[in-house]
Amino acid sequence: MTIPLVDLKAQYATIKPEIDAAMARVVTNTAFILGKEVAEFEKNFAAFCRAQHCVGADSGTAALHLALLICGVKPGDEVITTTHTFIATAEVISLIGARPVFVDIDPRTYNLDPNLIERAITPRTRAIIPVHLYGQPAEMDPILEIARQHNLRVIEDAAQAHGAEYRGKRAGSMGDVACFSFYPGKNLGAYGDAGALVTNNQELADNARTLRDHGRRSKYEHFITGYGYRLDALQAAILGAKLPHLDAWNARRRAIADRYTELLTNLDIVTPYVPPHITPIYHIYCIRHNNRDGLLKHLKAQGIEAGIHYPIPLHLQPVYQNLGYQVGAFPQTEKAANEILSLPIYPEMTDAQVEQVVDAVRTFK
Ligand SMILES: *Cc1c(COP(=O)(O)O)cnc(C)c1O
Repeated sequence: MTIPLVDLKAQYATIKPEIDAAMARVVTNTAFILGKEVAEFEKNFAAFCRAQHCVGADSGTAALHLALLICGVKPGDEVITTTHTFIATAEVISLIGARPVFVDIDPRTYNLDPNLIERAITPRTRAIIPVHLYGQPAEMDPILEIARQHNLRVIEDAAQAHGAEYRGKRAGSMGDVACFSFYPGKNLGAYGDAGALVTNNQELADNARTLRDHGRRSKYEHFITGYGYRLDALQAAILGAKLPHLDAWNARRRAIADRYTELLTNLDIVTPYVPPHITPIYHIYCIRHNNRDGLLKHLKAQGIEAGIHYPIPLHLQPVYQNLGYQVGAFPQTEKAANEILSLPIYPEMTDAQVEQVVDAVRTFK
């Protein structure tokens, strides 16, 4: 029996009546753009994050782009972020004509190392984007303190961290703005592209709302040059049906992760490190092995789908050669990129499947 990295069919099977009813409601009402479904989901998702405002968008990338715009990032500015993330985190900085300034990770958590931020700050720095990678919040207190001292905005990339907690605070409630992705494979996934921006600042929320809908605040009046970044009502209804399950799904992911960690101890494997003040949601269960490529091949042969998040650091991506970073610039990320491997994890995974994965890992020589 093969085991996929994620199994969206298994999840649909557990919530089919709720999803089908939500979709039928939207189709029957034919209110497809914004409207009540979107407003309702925004209210509930803000509450889930324990934040004041949520503005739906048509992807996590769009939400990140809006976040930079409302934070006043302009062409020629610099934005500090981690080199160990999905391309979208940095792509939106480039899209604005600003410059991504990368920093290395803490090799234990894979998140941006706060000790490396200050030396990356210049007079052009406007914002920091910490990524809560794999569903584990970045070390926010020192990041927020540095931002306060240097008058920088903090934009949380919480695309992998819906419901994760840092010192009892939820991802999305700590920075000036936070961005979420509801890409289908994320812990809260739509049935297509969707995303959201979350903030405690009314003015930033209002500006994001205007920008995502062609710069308008009423039907026919356009105040600024905006974008077509609206969240679909169909996606909002699906997300709304799934949201009440999310805490339980995240708890099940944690139980699976704990079981993996217990069973994989005493092998040549580095299991995830979770500081005591953090509650992760394991979007990814990431292990390290010094023969990663061999292990990956072995797992594949046993029918286990594993992944690599991410094999090429952003500073070494072809698209970023113009930034002038060399191999060796960020040694912790470069080493991790060669050693990390993501094991299958999803809430519907059975204990037997977890053991099957562990057995496959154990037989690797
Ligand atoms: C998924 C993801 C995004 C982008 O989200 P989309 O909804 O696919 O646009 C951004 N940052 C990170 C870290 C992600 O994992």
